[in-house]
Formats: sequence, C-alpha cells, structure tokens
Amino acid sequence: MRVLTSPESPLNKLFLIELEDGNTVEAVHYRGDTLCVSTQVGCPIECKFCVSGREGLLRNLTAEEIYGQYELVKECHAIKRIAVAGIGEPLANWENVKSAFWKFKEEHLKVSFYTTGFPLKNLRELIELPHAGVSISVHSLNKELRKELMPFAGNVNLLIDFLKEFLPTLSRKKRGKVSLAYLLMEGVNDSREDLESLSELASSLGVSVSLLFYNDILGFSRLSPERYEEAFLFLRNRGVRVTLSNRFRKDKLGGCGTLAVNRALEPYKPYNFLLWSTKR
Ligand code: SF4
Repeated sequence: MRVLTSPESPLNKLFLIELEDGNTVEAVHYRGDTLCVSTQVGCPIECKFCVSGREGLLRNLTAEEIYGQYELVKECHAIKRIAVAGIGEPLANWENVKSAFWKFKEEHLKVSFYTTGFPLKNLRELIELPHAGVSISVHSLNKELRKELMPFAGNVNLLIDFLKEFLPTLSRKKRGKVSLAYLLMEGVNDSREDLESLSELASSLGVSVSLLFYNDILGFSRLSPERYEEAFLFLRNRGVRVTLSNRFRKDKLGGCGTLAVNRALEPYKPYNFLLWSTKR
C-alpha cells in the first residue's frame, strides 16, 4: 500500500491510497486528530447520493488494508480517533472490520462507525463493541423512498423493529452512543411529515439525530442554511437531541459522500480532480 497523493483544503487532507492490486481507496484526516478510513473498494449499498457507491462493490478490504490506512497516515499526522465512515459498508465486511477495530483499540484509539445497519446480527455485535459511537444512516423512514435512495440497504422497517427491541436492553450510557443519521435533501426527504416521523422514532428509541448537510455532488440538492436550521429547530423543539454536520463533513474535499474508488479512472470528474492531479 502507498499514498499516491494527498491534496488538502483548509479543513481536510485527503489521502489517495493505492492497494497492492492497483485499486485505490481514500482516507481523510480532519479535525487535527481524526482519520476517516475506508472498509471496501466500492460499496454494495450503491446510495444514489454518494460517489463511493457509483460502481457497486469491487472487493472487500482486508483487516490489514483497513488498519494500513492508519499506519500510512500516522507517519505524518497525529491520530487519536478513527471514523469508520469512508468508502464501504462496514457491516458488509464485518470480520475484517472487526479485526481492524481490535487493532485500533490496541493503539488506544477511539473508534466510531457509520453504517446502514445490515446484516442486523452484525449491527448487534457492532453496538456491543467498546466503540466511541455508532451512527445508523436512515435518511428516510419511508420504505419505498429509502429503497430508491439506498437500493441495497435493507428494509428500514426491519431495522426499526430491531432497534426498538434491542436498544432498551442497553445501558443508558451505551444507548447514548447510538444515533440516527439523516441526510437532508431538498424536496426528497425534508417535509414536515418526514421530520415528524424522524422525531417520533428518535424519541421512542431515546437516541440522538445527526442531521447531515448534503455536499451537492450527484444531482440532489442541499437545503439552504435557513431550512437546515429550521429542520434542526423542528427536531429540537420536540425534545430530540440533534447534532449538525460540522465544517469538516461539509467540506468539498473529503467531506461526506465525496470519496471515490479508483478516482483516476472515474469518468466523473469531481471538483477536486484538478487540484490533486496538479500536486502529483
Ligand atoms: S453513503 Fe455509505 S453506504 Fe451509501 S454508497 Fe456511500 S459509502 Fe456506501
């Protein structure tokens, strides 16, 4: 494995990493102490709003390749936290992700996860690990719409039933580390009814909501800052704990949904293509 190039914005530094077989994945160093790592080459969930899933899944990363991203970047940057939130669905490569997790823990790193939730037996195991946070991406509570947005993510009703049964068995502290992630897209999943359902679910589960701000990249539109704030207040006024996307996640370089597999071969020419190609 080797770093091919590492373009940076004022907020994030993206590492384009070549694997032994020539495929490339990406990791992002942000907030001065956190590394977001990829778990697969491509992604089997194929979310319509995310660059990472455009070509589907090419292969799983090995545990060494997941951990190896940390080994490469730690040479030049401080890392205290790992966010398993890059390219791939961690639960779809669970044995390798779990092995890498324990290696990260041996280094005393805090490890948090983003997942779409399936297989549910893996989600249960994940939540039981000594993680620093598990964010479950729902993005819509309407079964049909979620399937449209996240074609291979699994049935949201089964996910909700599982969470309703499992979360109450956890300690309050453990449950406090589980949240629902909801990516707001204008005219898609941002209606009053959508937010009402989300607030009811979060309240009944006793978990917080992470309201994600969309990086306009694949044909959907983000909310205006005013409407984003309104959505935040709507949930908060109903007693839901809400967090908003921080500036690192909103950044066009390496922010949510922007990481690409085999970027140099991508027919899609992202905003930062020229930036990093000139740095080679
Ligand atoms: S948002 Fe996550 S689960 Fe969906 S395609 Fe992108 S990497 Fe995969």
